Amino acid sequence: MSATIIDGKAFAGKVREKVAGHVSRLKDGHGITPGLAVVLVGEDPASQVYVRSKGKMTVEVGMKSVEHKLDVETSEADLLALIARLNADPDIHGILVQLPLPKHLNEDLVINSIDPAKDVDGFHISNVGLLGTGQKSMVPCTPLGCLMMLRDHHGSLSGMDAVVIGRSNIVGKPMAQLLLGDSCTVTIAHSRTKDLADVVRRADIVVAAVGRPEMVPGDWIKPGATVIDVGINRIERDGKTKLVGDVDFASCAAVAGAITPVPGGVGPMTIACLLANTVTAACRANGLAEPEGLTA
Ligand code: NAD
Repeated sequence: MSATIIDGKAFAGKVREKVAGHVSRLKDGHGITPGLAVVLVGEDPASQVYVRSKGKMTVEVGMKSVEHKLDVETSEADLLALIARLNADPDIHGILVQLPLPKHLNEDLVINSIDPAKDVDGFHISNVGLLGTGQKSMVPCTPLGCLMMLRDHHGSLSGMDAVVIGRSNIVGKPMAQLLLGDSCTVTIAHSRTKDLADVVRRADIVVAAVGRPEMVPGDWIKPGATVIDVGINRIERDGKTKLVGDVDFASCAAVAGAITPVPGGVGPMTIACLLANTVTAACRANGLAEPEGLTA
């Protein structure tokens, strides 16, 4: 069997088009321009790249992009004061604090100081609780992107056996909640899971979010299963730097029914979902109907 490749790059393009359509309706019909503020503390090179591409894509879909680049030594009080100003700014509908933060800043405190209605990363404890209890929330972008691709491929996920490998707060746990919300039977596997291969072999849907290059081989995959590879790992191969996922693409694609590639799978969906969350936040803030198909 040879798997269908789920083209996250193309799908993310469609999501961004949808977002752009909603943005122009908000502008033309209501005089509202959704605004996203991104806060970067320090000069971590990877974070700088992410922030640049987030800003570029925000502008491309017609939204307002505001970047706050703060010195690595910024105090917690100054950062919290900036977030308080953004919380109070009616032109800003989404606030994202780029993680990781420098060690002297308390990440939980900072994230929980964001107005939950503007928390487009979905990391605020209120949004975590709302998602966990099946209520309307801001959903973390990477798992939301995975869910959109799964729904697009399968239609209904009801009754499917899903295994999420990884239990992080930003990917694994919210992914499991979303799959449960779509009536999958969900198993969360992690570093202490016994017989991981056997657990994964039961799954109709495998979501790998581990951070270990090509850890999942094809013989762990049930024939015909859908494999969503969240991992982004940089490795050296044949003298070149290469990006690979958490699954061994060649052997898994030979067994799976569908699979996301790395790069070009989950990655592009993450920023598309950030834009989707921002337009959703702008609609909610103004008491307008939410865009369909852009939330969980
Ligand atoms: P994390 O380090 O916070 O969590 C990794 C999880 O993997 C942990 O819960 C751990 O229990 C589990 N794990 C570790 N070793 C394991 C093993 N041998 N067997 C089973 N489980 C094991 O990582 P994260 O932030 O959730 O990210 C996971 C991966 O996803 C990373 O490669 C990261 O770069 C990538 N990522 C991609 C995107 C994207 O946009 N595509 C977004 C976020 C994270």
